Amino acid sequence: MLTVNAYAAPSATEPLIPTTIERRDVGPHDVLIDIAYAGICHSDIHTVRGHWGPITYPQVVGHEIVGFVREVGADVTTHKIGDRVGVGCQSNSCGICEQCLKGEEAYCLNGNIQTYAGRDYDGTITQGGYSQATVVNERFVLKVPESLPLDKVAPLLCAGVTLYSPLKHWNAGPGTKVAVVGMGGLGHVGVKLAHALGAEVTVLSQTMSKEEDGKKFGADHYYATSELETFEKLAGTFDLILNTVSAKLDIGQYVNLLAVDGTLVLLGAPSEELSVVGMPLISGRRSIAGSANGGIPITQEMLEFCAEHNVLPETELITADYINEAYERVLTSDVRYRFVIDAKSFA
Ligand SMILES: [Zn+2]
Ligand SMILES: [Zn+2]
Repeated sequence: MLTVNAYAAPSATEPLIPTTIERRDVGPHDVLIDIAYAGICHSDIHTVRGHWGPITYPQVVGHEIVGFVREVGADVTTHKIGDRVGVGCQSNSCGICEQCLKGEEAYCLNGNIQTYAGRDYDGTITQGGYSQATVVNERFVLKVPESLPLDKVAPLLCAGVTLYSPLKHWNAGPGTKVAVVGMGGLGHVGVKLAHALGAEVTVLSQTMSKEEDGKKFGADHYYATSELETFEKLAGTFDLILNTVSAKLDIGQYVNLLAVDGTLVLLGAPSEELSVVGMPLISGRRSIAGSANGGIPITQEMLEFCAEHNVLPETELITADYINEAYERVLTSDVRYRFVIDAKSFA
């Protein structure tokens, strides 16, 4: 076992504190990674605060992990010591179901193992990336292209693939009109990716306060959803709407913005039930869908796409002792646009 420094939540209501955790011995198919940076995702906060159900404490979160390979197991063929690597939302899956065999580990039929707060096959609770090092099965270790700056790569491992995978699944590209609802940690990466894919991109944000940023990130249009006329003006416009907002939205309003055959994809979901009237779906052959982050092959593809098109998230680098303050700022949307922890500060 390897003892490493980490920041953990001791309970649902207390701030995160410095602690140490044990990482398992490097098995034949494992990779030991010295973590360089870990992104802060809104999911981290929901998880440690028990918003998504009870968890076991202490819990270390973080599923946007990048670093360098320190050691590999005897049978590892895909990674070698010194490689730049990343780990995203999943760190294990059954590997034998129809979805795993297709490389769709996010949709593993036996339930994938989340990088944190998941129960791994050895019975242990997975501990995430707010830490000096981690041990992960080689199948879940991504290769980080040389040209990408490591601190900026971190948020791509969750936010990046969460947006890239629906954009690809629903064929966003030249000639398609894509709207991104919400321009936070997820949304701003979505704007950059959709633009790089060649789509015509519209941001639908609560207010116009981030318009300048949105246009800089590649948005062709920017509208405030607090203005009712936005919904009149844009009715029937979009082939694809990606909703990154997890607060309750009037879904019907957004369905009306879809073109014929358009799809509204939920990436963030409120805990309340959503209600929608059937006729606008029927009359425009429109769909409402959901999408999880993405399997390993599409995550790797996304990293290479970002390297090729120079798509990088906007980040604010922090030290570990700032995590709790960063959480408060995420909750009040006071971050442009993603916090990344310098893992040297766990030392
Ligand atoms: Zn995340
Ligand atoms: Zn599976």
